Amino acid sequence: MHSSLQVYNSLTRQQEVFKPVNPPYVGMYVCGPTVYGLSHIGHARCYITFDVIQRYLKHLGYQVRYVRNITDVGHLERDGDEGEDKIAKQAQLEKLEPMEVVQRYMNSFHNDMALLNVQPPSIEPQASGHIPEQIQIIQQIIDQGLAYESNGSVYFNITAYEKKREYGKLSGRNIHDLLAGTRVLAGQSEKKFPLDFALWKKANKTHIMRWPSPWGEGFPGWHIECTALATKYLGPYFDIHGGGIDLLFPHHECEIAQSQAVQSTTLAKYWLHNNLVMIHDHKMSKSLGNFITLEELFQGIHPLLSQAYSPMVLRFFVLQAHYRSTLSFSNEALQASEKGYLKLINGLRVVKKMSYTPSNLGNPNPDAISQIEQYVASCYQAINDDFNTAKLIAELFQLLRFIYALEYKQIDFYKLGKTTFELLKKTYILFVEDILGLQEHCKAAPQEFLSVILKMYAQAKQQKNYEQIDLLRAELKKLNIMLHDTARGVDWSYI
Ligand code: ZN
Repeated sequence: MHSSLQVYNSLTRQQEVFKPVNPPYVGMYVCGPTVYGLSHIGHARCYITFDVIQRYLKHLGYQVRYVRNITDVGHLERDGDEGEDKIAKQAQLEKLEPMEVVQRYMNSFHNDMALLNVQPPSIEPQASGHIPEQIQIIQQIIDQGLAYESNGSVYFNITAYEKKREYGKLSGRNIHDLLAGTRVLAGQSEKKFPLDFALWKKANKTHIMRWPSPWGEGFPGWHIECTALATKYLGPYFDIHGGGIDLLFPHHECEIAQSQAVQSTTLAKYWLHNNLVMIHDHKMSKSLGNFITLEELFQGIHPLLSQAYSPMVLRFFVLQAHYRSTLSFSNEALQASEKGYLKLINGLRVVKKMSYTPSNLGNPNPDAISQIEQYVASCYQAINDDFNTAKLIAELFQLLRFIYALEYKQIDFYKLGKTTFELLKKTYILFVEDILGLQEHCKAAPQEFLSVILKMYAQAKQQKNYEQIDLLRAELKKLNIMLHDTARGVDWSYI
Protein backbone atom coordinates (compact mmCIF):
# COMPACT_ATOMS: atom_id res chain seq x y z
CA MET A 1 0.00 0.00 0.00
CA HIS A 2 3.06 2.24 0.33
CA SER A 3 4.19 2.10 -3.26
CA SER A 4 1.13 3.62 -4.89
CA LEU A 5 1.82 7.32 -4.33
CA GLN A 6 0.22 9.46 -7.01
CA VAL A 7 0.93 13.13 -7.59
CA TYR A 8 -0.78 15.73 -9.73
CA ASN A 9 1.75 17.02 -12.23
CA SER A 10 1.09 20.60 -13.40
CA LEU A 11 3.27 19.93 -16.45
CA THR A 12 1.14 17.08 -17.84
CA ARG A 13 -2.05 18.27 -16.11
CA GLN A 14 -2.76 14.82 -14.76
CA GLN A 15 -2.31 12.64 -11.74
CA GLU A 16 0.60 10.24 -12.19
CA VAL A 17 2.17 7.38 -10.26
CA PHE A 18 5.24 8.78 -8.56
CA LYS A 19 8.38 7.17 -10.01
CA PRO A 20 11.62 8.93 -9.07
CA VAL A 21 14.24 9.53 -11.75
CA ASN A 22 16.94 7.78 -9.74
CA PRO A 23 15.48 5.86 -6.75
CA PRO A 24 15.99 5.70 -3.81
CA TYR A 25 17.06 9.35 -4.20
CA VAL A 26 14.49 12.09 -4.56
CA GLY A 27 15.52 15.60 -5.49
CA MET A 28 13.04 18.31 -4.59
CA TYR A 29 13.35 22.04 -5.23
CA VAL A 30 10.93 24.61 -3.84
CA CYS A 31 11.14 28.33 -4.60
CA GLY A 32 12.03 29.99 -1.32
CA PRO A 33 11.17 33.43 0.03
CA THR A 34 12.36 36.84 -1.11
CA VAL A 35 13.72 38.13 2.16
CA TYR A 36 12.62 41.76 2.34
CA GLY A 37 9.64 41.56 4.72
CA LEU A 38 7.89 39.44 7.30
CA SER A 39 6.39 36.08 6.32
CA HIS A 40 2.61 35.88 5.95
CA ILE A 41 0.01 33.10 5.86
CA GLY A 42 0.59 32.54 2.12
CA HIS A 43 4.26 31.70 2.77
CA ALA A 44 3.28 29.40 5.63
CA ARG A 45 0.91 27.47 3.36
CA CYS A 46 3.59 26.80 0.75
CA TYR A 47 6.33 25.68 3.12
CA ILE A 48 4.00 23.57 5.31
CA THR A 49 2.70 21.83 2.14
CA PHE A 50 6.15 20.87 0.92
CA ASP A 51 7.28 20.00 4.44
CA VAL A 52 4.55 17.33 4.63
CA ILE A 53 5.49 16.11 1.14
CA GLN A 54 9.17 15.66 2.05
CA ARG A 55 8.23 14.05 5.40
CA TYR A 56 6.03 11.49 3.63
CA LEU A 57 8.64 10.76 0.95
CA LYS A 58 11.17 10.08 3.73
CA HIS A 59 8.64 7.82 5.44
CA LEU A 60 8.34 5.84 2.19
CA GLY A 61 12.08 5.22 2.45
CA TYR A 62 13.33 7.72 -0.14
CA GLN A 63 16.51 9.67 0.46
CA VAL A 64 15.28 13.18 -0.06
CA ARG A 65 17.53 16.08 -0.94
CA TYR A 66 15.37 19.13 -0.44
CA VAL A 67 16.69 22.42 -1.81
CA ARG A 68 14.91 25.68 -0.99
CA ASN A 69 16.57 28.91 -2.08
CA ILE A 70 16.70 32.34 -0.56
CA THR A 71 16.04 35.11 -3.09
CA ASP A 72 18.20 37.99 -1.98
CA VAL A 73 18.89 39.68 -5.29
CA GLY A 74 17.23 40.38 -8.60
CA HIS A 75 13.58 40.16 -7.62
CA LEU A 76 12.25 43.44 -8.93
CA GLU A 77 9.18 45.39 -7.94
CA ARG A 78 6.16 44.69 -10.17
CA ASP A 79 7.70 41.26 -10.94
CA GLY A 80 8.81 42.44 -14.36
CA ASP A 81 12.15 43.29 -15.86
CA GLU A 82 11.95 46.93 -14.86
CA GLY A 83 11.69 48.54 -11.45
CA GLU A 84 13.66 48.54 -8.24
CA ASP A 85 15.28 45.58 -6.51
CA LYS A 86 12.99 44.72 -3.59
CA ILE A 87 15.87 44.15 -1.16
CA ALA A 88 17.68 47.35 -2.13
CA LYS A 89 14.44 49.32 -1.79
CA GLN A 90 13.82 47.94 1.71
CA ALA A 91 17.46 48.68 2.65
CA GLN A 92 16.94 52.32 1.69
CA LEU A 93 13.72 52.49 3.69
CA GLU A 94 15.29 50.98 6.81
CA LYS A 95 18.67 52.71 6.29
CA LEU A 96 20.46 49.37 6.36
CA GLU A 97 22.98 47.53 4.21
CA PRO A 98 21.09 45.27 1.75
CA MET A 99 22.75 42.25 3.39
CA GLU A 100 21.50 43.42 6.81
CA VAL A 101 17.98 43.40 5.39
CA VAL A 102 18.58 39.90 4.01
CA GLN A 103 19.92 38.63 7.34
CA ARG A 104 17.15 40.22 9.39
CA TYR A 105 14.30 38.76 7.35
CA MET A 106 16.06 35.45 6.85
CA ASN A 107 16.37 35.08 10.63
CA SER A 108 12.73 36.00 11.05
CA PHE A 109 11.71 33.50 8.33
CA HIS A 110 13.70 30.71 10.01
CA ASN A 111 12.14 31.54 13.34
CA ASP A 112 8.63 31.36 11.84
CA MET A 113 9.40 28.05 10.14
CA ALA A 114 10.68 26.57 13.42
CA LEU A 115 7.48 27.68 15.21
CA LEU A 116 5.44 25.99 12.47
CA ASN A 117 7.55 22.82 12.88
CA VAL A 118 8.65 23.06 9.24
CA GLN A 119 11.85 21.03 8.98
CA PRO A 120 14.81 22.89 7.46
CA PRO A 121 15.72 21.95 3.88
CA SER A 122 18.86 19.90 3.11
CA ILE A 123 20.42 22.88 1.32
CA GLU A 124 19.31 26.51 1.47
CA PRO A 125 21.39 28.41 -1.10
CA GLN A 126 21.31 32.19 -1.34
CA ALA A 127 21.14 33.69 -4.83
CA SER A 128 23.76 36.33 -3.95
CA GLY A 129 26.23 33.56 -3.07
CA HIS A 130 25.86 31.94 -6.51
CA ILE A 131 26.50 34.74 -8.99
CA PRO A 132 29.24 32.85 -10.97
CA GLU A 133 26.89 29.86 -11.45
CA GLN A 134 24.20 32.18 -12.81
CA ILE A 135 26.64 33.98 -15.13
CA GLN A 136 27.82 30.62 -16.45
CA ILE A 137 24.33 29.42 -17.31
CA ILE A 138 23.46 32.77 -18.95
CA GLN A 139 26.60 32.42 -21.09
CA GLN A 140 25.51 28.90 -22.09
CA ILE A 141 22.10 30.22 -23.18
CA ILE A 142 23.86 32.92 -25.27
CA ASP A 143 26.12 30.24 -26.80
CA GLN A 144 23.02 28.30 -27.83
CA GLY A 145 21.83 31.39 -29.69
CA LEU A 146 18.85 31.73 -27.35
CA ALA A 147 19.81 34.95 -25.56
CA TYR A 148 21.35 38.26 -26.59
CA GLU A 149 23.10 41.20 -25.00
CA SER A 150 21.53 44.61 -25.26
CA ASN A 151 23.02 47.72 -23.66
CA GLY A 152 24.76 45.73 -20.87
CA SER A 153 21.72 43.57 -20.12
CA VAL A 154 21.04 40.05 -21.39
CA TYR A 155 17.60 38.86 -22.53
CA PHE A 156 16.19 35.43 -23.25
CA ASN A 157 15.17 35.30 -26.91
CA ILE A 158 11.63 33.91 -27.01
CA THR A 159 11.39 34.08 -30.83
CA ALA A 160 14.55 31.98 -31.28
CA TYR A 161 13.42 29.59 -28.57
CA GLU A 162 10.00 29.07 -30.18
CA LYS A 163 11.71 27.80 -33.33
CA LYS A 164 13.19 24.93 -31.30
CA ARG A 165 10.75 24.39 -28.43
CA GLU A 166 7.31 25.36 -27.29
CA TYR A 167 7.10 28.24 -24.80
CA GLY A 168 4.12 28.11 -22.42
CA LYS A 169 3.81 24.34 -21.97
CA LEU A 170 3.49 24.54 -18.19
CA SER A 171 1.01 27.40 -18.05
CA GLY A 172 -0.91 26.37 -21.18
CA ARG A 173 -0.45 29.84 -22.66
CA ASN A 174 0.86 30.56 -26.13
CA ILE A 175 2.93 33.51 -27.21
CA HIS A 176 0.21 34.94 -29.47
CA ASP A 177 -2.23 35.26 -26.57
CA LEU A 178 0.51 36.57 -24.31
CA LEU A 179 1.52 39.12 -26.89
CA ALA A 180 -2.05 40.39 -27.15
CA GLY A 181 -1.84 41.40 -23.48
CA THR A 182 1.47 43.24 -23.85
CA ARG A 183 1.89 46.91 -24.60
CA VAL A 184 4.63 47.43 -27.13
CA LEU A 185 6.35 50.78 -26.90
CA ALA A 186 8.41 51.03 -30.05
CA GLY A 187 12.00 52.15 -29.61
CA GLN A 188 11.75 52.35 -25.83
CA SER A 189 12.85 48.82 -25.04
CA GLU A 190 16.20 47.09 -25.06
CA LYS A 191 14.34 43.92 -25.96
CA LYS A 192 13.98 42.56 -29.47
CA PHE A 193 10.58 41.09 -28.64
CA PRO A 194 8.21 42.18 -25.85
CA LEU A 195 8.02 38.73 -24.24
CA ASP A 196 11.82 38.35 -23.93
CA PHE A 197 12.77 38.27 -20.27
CA ALA A 198 15.89 39.50 -18.46
CA LEU A 199 18.62 37.04 -17.52
CA TRP A 200 21.01 39.80 -16.49
CA LYS A 201 20.34 43.48 -15.85
CA LYS A 202 22.82 46.28 -16.17
CA ALA A 203 23.14 48.19 -12.88
CA ASN A 204 22.64 51.91 -13.13
CA LYS A 205 24.92 54.23 -11.14
CA THR A 206 22.78 54.20 -7.99
CA HIS A 207 22.11 50.45 -7.91
CA ILE A 208 23.78 49.02 -4.79
CA MET A 209 23.73 45.26 -5.38
CA ARG A 210 26.02 44.71 -8.38
CA TRP A 211 28.56 42.22 -9.63
CA PRO A 212 31.06 42.18 -12.53
CA SER A 213 30.12 40.06 -15.54
CA PRO A 214 31.17 39.58 -19.18
CA TRP A 215 28.45 42.17 -20.02
CA GLY A 216 29.53 44.80 -17.48
CA GLU A 217 28.42 45.44 -13.89
CA GLY A 218 24.92 44.28 -13.09
CA PHE A 219 22.81 41.69 -11.34
CA PRO A 220 20.99 38.48 -12.32
CA GLY A 221 17.30 38.28 -13.17
CA TRP A 222 15.04 36.41 -10.76
CA HIS A 223 14.16 33.41 -12.98
CA ILE A 224 17.76 32.42 -13.72
CA GLU A 225 18.54 31.97 -10.03
CA CYS A 226 16.26 28.94 -9.61
CA THR A 227 17.45 27.16 -12.77
CA ALA A 228 21.07 27.71 -11.71
CA LEU A 229 20.62 26.69 -8.06
CA ALA A 230 18.41 23.67 -8.78
CA THR A 231 20.83 22.41 -11.45
CA LYS A 232 23.86 22.94 -9.23
CA TYR A 233 22.50 20.94 -6.29
CA LEU A 234 20.09 18.48 -7.93
CA GLY A 235 21.43 18.04 -11.47
CA PRO A 236 19.85 18.87 -14.84
CA TYR A 237 16.77 16.66 -14.32
CA PHE A 238 15.39 15.86 -10.89
CA ASP A 239 12.09 14.73 -9.37
CA ILE A 240 9.94 17.48 -7.88
CA HIS A 241 9.82 21.23 -8.41
CA GLY A 242 7.35 22.99 -6.16
CA GLY A 243 6.02 26.39 -5.26
CA GLY A 244 2.91 28.51 -4.99
CA ILE A 245 0.58 28.54 -8.00
CA ASP A 246 1.20 32.27 -8.43
CA LEU A 247 4.77 31.36 -9.46
CA LEU A 248 3.62 29.06 -12.26
CA PHE A 249 3.69 31.91 -14.74
CA PRO A 250 5.98 33.52 -15.65
CA HIS A 251 8.55 32.33 -13.09
CA HIS A 252 8.35 28.55 -13.52
CA GLU A 253 7.66 28.82 -17.24
CA CYS A 254 10.90 30.80 -17.57
CA GLU A 255 12.81 28.30 -15.41
CA ILE A 256 11.74 25.53 -17.80
CA ALA A 257 12.69 27.58 -20.88
CA GLN A 258 16.16 28.28 -19.45
CA SER A 259 16.67 24.62 -18.62
CA GLN A 260 15.44 23.46 -22.05
CA ALA A 261 17.87 25.96 -23.62
CA VAL A 262 21.02 24.59 -21.94
CA GLN A 263 20.28 21.02 -20.90
CA SER A 264 17.23 20.01 -22.95
CA THR A 265 15.19 19.10 -19.88
CA THR A 266 12.08 20.42 -18.19
CA LEU A 267 14.33 20.72 -15.08
CA ALA A 268 11.98 18.54 -12.98
CA LYS A 269 9.82 15.53 -13.80
CA TYR A 270 6.92 16.58 -11.56
CA TRP A 271 5.83 20.20 -11.10
CA LEU A 272 3.67 20.67 -7.99
CA HIS A 273 1.81 23.85 -7.06
CA ASN A 274 -0.03 24.74 -3.89
CA ASN A 275 -3.06 27.00 -4.28
CA LEU A 276 -3.61 30.48 -2.86
CA VAL A 277 -4.78 31.72 0.52
CA MET A 278 -7.88 33.85 -0.02
CA ILE A 279 -9.23 36.63 2.12
CA HIS A 280 -12.67 38.06 1.31
CA ASP A 281 -12.48 36.36 -2.11
CA HIS A 282 -9.15 37.99 -2.97
CA LYS A 283 -5.68 36.51 -3.03
CA MET A 284 -3.80 37.29 0.19
CA SER A 285 -0.54 38.86 -0.91
CA LYS A 286 2.01 41.43 -0.01
CA SER A 287 1.52 43.30 -3.26
CA LEU A 288 -2.23 43.67 -2.62
CA GLY A 289 -1.61 44.81 0.97
CA ASN A 290 -4.30 42.49 2.41
CA PHE A 291 -1.98 40.03 4.10
CA ILE A 292 -1.64 39.01 7.74
CA THR A 293 1.90 38.35 8.92
CA LEU A 294 2.64 35.29 11.01
CA GLU A 295 3.73 37.53 13.87
CA GLU A 296 0.34 39.29 13.80
CA LEU A 297 -1.49 35.96 13.68
CA PHE A 298 0.46 34.43 16.58
CA GLN A 299 -0.10 37.55 18.70
CA GLY A 300 -3.64 38.32 17.51
CA ILE A 301 -2.72 41.91 16.68
CA HIS A 302 -4.35 42.42 13.26
CA PRO A 303 -7.73 44.22 12.93
CA LEU A 304 -9.12 41.20 11.04
CA LEU A 305 -8.31 38.84 13.91
CA SER A 306 -10.64 38.24 16.84
CA GLN A 307 -7.95 36.36 18.81
CA ALA A 308 -4.38 34.99 18.61
CA TYR A 309 -3.82 31.62 16.95
CA SER A 310 -0.89 29.36 17.75
CA PRO A 311 1.49 28.17 15.02
CA MET A 312 0.12 24.64 15.35
CA VAL A 313 -3.44 25.86 14.79
CA LEU A 314 -2.24 27.54 11.60
CA ARG A 315 -0.50 24.32 10.56
CA PHE A 316 -3.73 22.37 11.09
CA PHE A 317 -5.72 25.07 9.24
CA VAL A 318 -3.41 24.68 6.22
CA LEU A 319 -3.53 20.89 6.28
CA GLN A 320 -7.29 20.50 6.70
CA ALA A 321 -7.63 21.63 3.08
CA HIS A 322 -6.09 19.85 0.10
CA TYR A 323 -3.03 21.79 -1.08
CA ARG A 324 -4.46 22.28 -4.58
CA SER A 325 -7.68 23.88 -3.30
CA THR A 326 -7.86 27.53 -2.35
CA LEU A 327 -7.82 28.15 1.39
CA SER A 328 -10.20 30.83 2.66
CA PHE A 329 -9.05 32.77 5.66
CA SER A 330 -11.64 33.71 8.30
CA ASN A 331 -11.77 33.81 12.08
CA GLU A 332 -14.53 31.17 12.04
CA ALA A 333 -12.40 28.83 9.94
CA LEU A 334 -9.41 29.31 12.23
CA GLN A 335 -11.54 28.77 15.33
CA ALA A 336 -12.86 25.53 13.82
CA SER A 337 -9.24 24.54 13.13
CA GLU A 338 -8.31 25.27 16.73
CA LYS A 339 -11.02 22.86 17.90
CA GLY A 340 -9.95 20.21 15.40
CA TYR A 341 -6.29 20.58 16.29
CA LEU A 342 -6.96 20.27 20.04
CA LYS A 343 -9.08 17.16 19.47
CA LEU A 344 -6.35 15.50 17.42
CA ILE A 345 -3.56 16.49 19.80
CA ASN A 346 -5.42 15.48 22.97
CA GLY A 347 -5.84 12.09 21.30
CA LEU A 348 -2.11 11.99 20.66
CA ARG A 349 -1.38 12.50 24.36
CA VAL A 350 -3.87 9.78 25.32
CA VAL A 351 -2.61 7.21 22.83
CA LYS A 352 1.04 7.80 23.68
CA LYS A 353 0.39 6.86 27.32
CA MET A 354 -1.77 3.88 26.36
CA SER A 355 -0.47 0.31 26.49
CA TYR A 356 -2.11 -3.01 25.74
CA THR A 357 -3.92 -3.91 28.98
CA PRO A 358 -6.78 -6.37 28.38
CA SER A 359 -9.08 -6.91 31.39
CA ASN A 360 -9.50 -10.58 30.55
CA LEU A 361 -8.55 -13.08 27.90
CA GLY A 362 -11.63 -12.88 25.67
CA ASN A 363 -11.66 -13.52 21.94
CA PRO A 364 -10.76 -10.72 19.53
CA ASN A 365 -13.67 -9.21 17.62
CA PRO A 366 -13.12 -9.60 13.84
CA ASP A 367 -15.43 -6.67 13.03
CA ALA A 368 -13.51 -4.24 15.23
CA ILE A 369 -10.21 -5.49 13.83
CA SER A 370 -11.29 -5.14 10.22
CA GLN A 371 -12.68 -1.64 10.88
CA ILE A 372 -9.35 -0.47 12.26
CA GLU A 373 -7.43 -2.11 9.41
CA GLN A 374 -9.75 -0.37 6.96
CA TYR A 375 -9.21 3.07 8.54
CA VAL A 376 -5.44 2.55 8.57
CA ALA A 377 -5.53 1.61 4.88
CA SER A 378 -7.68 4.69 4.22
CA CYS A 379 -5.05 6.91 5.87
CA TYR A 380 -2.47 5.66 3.37
CA GLN A 381 -4.93 5.92 0.48
CA ALA A 382 -5.60 9.55 1.40
CA ILE A 383 -1.97 10.64 1.50
CA ASN A 384 -1.13 8.52 -1.56
CA ASP A 385 -3.87 10.39 -3.42
CA ASP A 386 -1.75 13.46 -4.20
CA PHE A 387 -1.10 14.17 -0.50
CA ASN A 388 -4.75 14.61 0.43
CA THR A 389 -4.22 15.76 4.01
CA ALA A 390 -7.87 16.88 4.30
CA LYS A 391 -9.03 13.29 3.77
CA LEU A 392 -6.21 11.95 5.96
CA ILE A 393 -7.31 14.11 8.90
CA ALA A 394 -10.90 12.81 8.53
CA GLU A 395 -9.56 9.21 8.71
CA LEU A 396 -7.47 10.06 11.78
CA PHE A 397 -10.64 11.24 13.54
CA GLN A 398 -12.10 7.78 12.85
CA LEU A 399 -9.09 6.15 14.52
CA LEU A 400 -9.48 8.60 17.38
CA ARG A 401 -12.96 7.21 18.10
CA PHE A 402 -11.38 3.84 18.87
CA ILE A 403 -8.67 5.42 21.01
CA TYR A 404 -11.30 7.07 23.22
CA ALA A 405 -13.45 3.93 23.26
CA LEU A 406 -10.44 2.10 24.73
CA GLU A 407 -9.63 4.96 27.11
CA TYR A 408 -13.17 5.06 28.49
CA LYS A 409 -13.49 1.26 28.52
CA GLN A 410 -16.36 1.17 26.03
CA ILE A 411 -14.33 -1.45 24.24
CA ASP A 412 -11.84 -3.80 25.86
CA PHE A 413 -8.30 -4.17 24.53
CA TYR A 414 -8.72 -7.93 24.04
CA LYS A 415 -11.35 -7.29 21.38
CA LEU A 416 -8.66 -5.72 19.17
CA GLY A 417 -5.82 -8.05 20.07
CA LYS A 418 -2.29 -6.79 20.65
CA THR A 419 -1.29 -6.56 16.96
CA THR A 420 -4.27 -4.44 15.92
CA PHE A 421 -3.93 -2.24 19.00
CA GLU A 422 -0.26 -1.61 18.15
CA LEU A 423 -1.23 -0.86 14.52
CA LEU A 424 -3.81 1.69 15.71
CA LYS A 425 -1.34 3.36 18.07
CA LYS A 426 1.56 3.38 15.60
CA THR A 427 -0.53 4.72 12.70
CA TYR A 428 -2.09 7.53 14.72
CA ILE A 429 1.24 8.73 16.10
CA LEU A 430 2.97 8.36 12.72
CA PHE A 431 0.48 10.48 10.79
CA VAL A 432 -0.30 13.14 13.40
CA GLU A 433 3.20 13.72 14.66
CA ASP A 434 5.70 12.58 12.02
CA ILE A 435 3.88 13.27 8.74
CA LEU A 436 1.44 16.07 9.45
CA GLY A 437 4.05 17.46 11.84
CA LEU A 438 1.53 18.48 14.52
CA GLN A 439 2.96 18.83 18.00
CA GLU A 440 1.54 19.51 21.39
CA HIS A 441 1.50 23.22 21.85
CA CYS A 442 1.29 24.24 25.46
CA LYS A 443 -0.25 27.70 25.43
CA ALA A 444 0.40 28.48 29.08
CA ALA A 445 3.99 29.18 30.11
CA PRO A 446 5.38 27.44 33.23
CA GLN A 447 5.38 30.84 34.94
CA GLU A 448 1.62 30.99 34.55
CA PHE A 449 1.21 27.55 36.09
CA LEU A 450 3.37 28.68 39.01
CA SER A 451 1.16 31.70 39.64
CA VAL A 452 -1.84 29.34 39.89
CA ILE A 453 0.02 27.30 42.55
CA LEU A 454 0.90 30.49 44.43
CA LYS A 455 -2.78 31.48 44.54
CA MET A 456 -3.72 28.02 45.87
CA TYR A 457 -1.00 28.36 48.51
CA ALA A 458 -2.22 31.81 49.60
CA GLN A 459 -5.77 30.50 49.84
CA ALA A 460 -4.64 27.48 51.92
CA LYS A 461 -2.85 29.88 54.31
CA GLN A 462 -5.94 32.00 54.69
CA GLN A 463 -7.97 28.91 55.50
CA LYS A 464 -5.21 27.62 57.80
CA ASN A 465 -5.25 24.37 55.79
CA TYR A 466 -1.83 23.15 57.01
CA GLU A 467 -2.09 19.81 55.26
CA GLN A 468 -2.51 21.56 51.88
CA ILE A 469 0.31 24.04 52.70
CA ASP A 470 2.74 21.21 53.49
CA LEU A 471 1.74 19.30 50.36
CA LEU A 472 2.29 22.29 48.06
CA ARG A 473 5.66 23.10 49.71
CA ALA A 474 6.84 19.49 49.43
CA GLU A 475 5.77 19.13 45.77
CA LEU A 476 7.41 22.41 44.74
CA LYS A 477 10.60 21.46 46.58
CA LYS A 478 10.88 18.47 44.25
CA LEU A 479 10.95 21.01 41.40
CA ASN A 480 13.66 23.02 43.23
CA ILE A 481 11.28 25.83 44.07
CA MET A 482 10.85 27.30 47.54
CA LEU A 483 7.91 29.42 48.71
CA HIS A 484 8.33 32.51 50.91
CA ASP A 485 5.81 34.50 52.90
CA THR A 486 6.70 38.14 52.35
CA ALA A 487 5.06 41.38 53.37
CA ARG A 488 3.69 41.69 49.80
CA GLY A 489 2.27 38.18 49.88
CA VAL A 490 3.65 34.85 48.67
CA ASP A 491 6.79 34.76 46.55
CA TRP A 492 9.13 32.02 45.38
CA SER A 493 12.81 31.39 44.64
CA TYR A 494 14.95 28.65 43.12
CA ILE A 495 16.55 26.35 45.67
ZN1 ZN B 1 12.00 29.89 -8.24
